Amino acid sequence: MHFAFLEISLKCPHCDHPTPMNGLLTRILCPECQRDMEAGTGFWKDVFNEAVRGLRFLPDGKEDYSPLTRFGGIQANLRYGWKRPFCEVCKTAYPRPGSLSEAGELVCPKCGQRTRYEPAPGWIRGINSRVRAVVGGVIQEKQVAGEGVVAGPVVFLCPRCNGSLAIDGKDRLVTCSFCKSQIYLPDDLWLRLHPAKVKERWYVGFEEPDASNASGKAHQP
Ligand SMILES: [Zn+2]
Ligand SMILES: [Zn+2]
Ligand SMILES: [Zn+2]
Repeated sequence: MHFAFLEISLKCPHCDHPTPMNGLLTRILCPECQRDMEAGTGFWKDVFNEAVRGLRFLPDGKEDYSPLTRFGGIQANLRYGWKRPFCEVCKTAYPRPGSLSEAGELVCPKCGQRTRYEPAPGWIRGINSRVRAVVGGVIQEKQVAGEGVVAGPVVFLCPRCNGSLAIDGKDRLVTCSFCKSQIYLPDDLWLRLHPAKVKERWYVGFEEPDASNASGKAHQP
C-alpha cells in the first residue's frame, strides 16, 4: 500500500468561513454559523480525481495544492502528496497497518502516540477502487436522516438497552443511566457537538499497482 496525505478545507456556502474536513465525511458542521455543509459523492469524486491526477506525477515527499477549487459544487482548498503516515508528536513514521479487515490503531514505535486506521468504506471504493485504507481521518459511514443543528443537550439512544440518554458533549465516554454500560459516542454525534476547528492531515492508502502495469510510472493511484 502506498500512502498519500490529504488536507482539505471547505468554504462554508452559508457564511464563507473556512472549515476543515478532517476525513471522509459527507457532512460537516460549520463552526462559525453552525449550519451543515453537505459533501456528497460528487464532492469526493472531484477531490479524488484532482488528487489522483496530481499524484500520478508527484515524486515522494513533494506536495501540491489546489486553492479554492470547485469540487462537486463546493469550494475547497486541497493539499495532497505521497507521504507515509507519521506521528505528529515525534515525527516518526507509523508502522503499516496489519490486517485491513477491520479498524484498528497504529502505535508510534518511538513515543507511543496512537492514530486510527480504518478499511476504506465501500462508497469511496466505488469512486476509486484502489483506495484501501484511511489513516488518522474520521470516517462517516452513513448519514443520520433528519438530524438538525445541535443546540443544548441532545438525546442519544443507548446501543445496548435503547434507553434515551441526554448527552451534553463534555465527555465522549458516557455511562448509560439505565443499563450502566460504557458508551463511546460515535464520530457523527461527537463532531456535531465539537465541530473541527483545526485542519489536520489524514492519509489514504492506495493499493500498489501490479508490477506488470507499473512500467515507468512510480505510483499509480
Ligand atoms: Zn458557516
Ligand atoms: Zn511519536
Ligand atoms: Zn443502556
